[in-house]
Amino acid sequence: MTDVIIVGAGTAGLTAAIYARRAGRSVLLFESSAYGGQIINTPDIENYPGLAHVSGFDFATALYQQAADLGAELKYERVLSVKSLPDRKIVHTAEGDYEARAVILATGAKNRPLGLDREKELIGRGVSYCATCDGMFFRGRDVVVAGGGNTALEDAAFLANYCRRVYLVHRRDEFRGSKETAKKLAAMDNVEFVMNSRVTKILGDEKVEGVEVTDKNTGAVRAIAAAALFVAIGQMPDNEAFSDLVELSDGGYIEAGEDCRTKTAGIYTAGDCRTKTVRQLTTAAADGAVAALAASQEM
Ligand code: NAP
Repeated sequence: MTDVIIVGAGTAGLTAAIYARRAGRSVLLFESSAYGGQIINTPDIENYPGLAHVSGFDFATALYQQAADLGAELKYERVLSVKSLPDRKIVHTAEGDYEARAVILATGAKNRPLGLDREKELIGRGVSYCATCDGMFFRGRDVVVAGGGNTALEDAAFLANYCRRVYLVHRRDEFRGSKETAKKLAAMDNVEFVMNSRVTKILGDEKVEGVEVTDKNTGAVRAIAAAALFVAIGQMPDNEAFSDLVELSDGGYIEAGEDCRTKTAGIYTAGDCRTKTVRQLTTAAADGAVAALAASQEM
């Protein structure tokens, strides 16, 4: 039996692994895609204390390496359910069942789609949720970024380095993301803000050839020719598999306070997947430490 099983190898999960290993516990992490979680797609992290600039990929890789060097084991298996018994937890994955004394749910969140017709169908043919991964395919072309948070602003800045023109479409007249980044973008010749507007249609049959945007105040519809639509409108949690184990908020987040405890003894949660007001790298890392120390001390 493993002491602590961690579901999700993002910043929260990997930090939990480091803390649990340092507390002398055996640790098994499960991840369904790549280690690192959301941050792996961020080109430049500028707000992690002590690291003025680091790419998301380098940050995630260093975090993973630190956990692995301490003896945490990572398995690429999707966790389908977790059962809580009086003396142990059973973690059921696509490959089999694993036993643990405690479980930390650090499932993060996944990209929210715009919900447009054919959005899903055109993924890989111009629709993307990751500017760092796919931006290079559109070098020298015109592209659209949808969203107004830090991800959208940073994606637009990243794409503006090598795309001909970047249209940043946001549904309000003010960005949610950093004012400083917005100011930098406003000073770039090849970036255009399309405010108070929503992307309402994807143009093109076989691939993205542009989008239609609708001004929410005037109702005016504008067609923008572009080779790609980068959707950066935030994340949504993916915790349905654990709905009988923990309480979920209306938005699907795992109900827990700063102590990272859920309603079930021995089940903890950490990072963006739990109810909280600030979702940052620092808060994900903090949660990982809190959850792992609680789990390690209480078994
Ligand atoms: P976010 O902060 O939740 O922003 C989502 C943006 O998308 C908002 O501007 C929102 O508009 C818009 N939006 C949401 N649903 C929409 C819809 N259906 N149609 C059109 N627009 C929609 O998400 P995020 O930018 O992905 O950032 C997530 C978290 O990670 C944040 O806490 C962010 O600060 C953090 N982050 C940090 C860094 C960094 O520190 N370097 C980098 C990336 C992200 P409204 O503003 O009108 O609600």
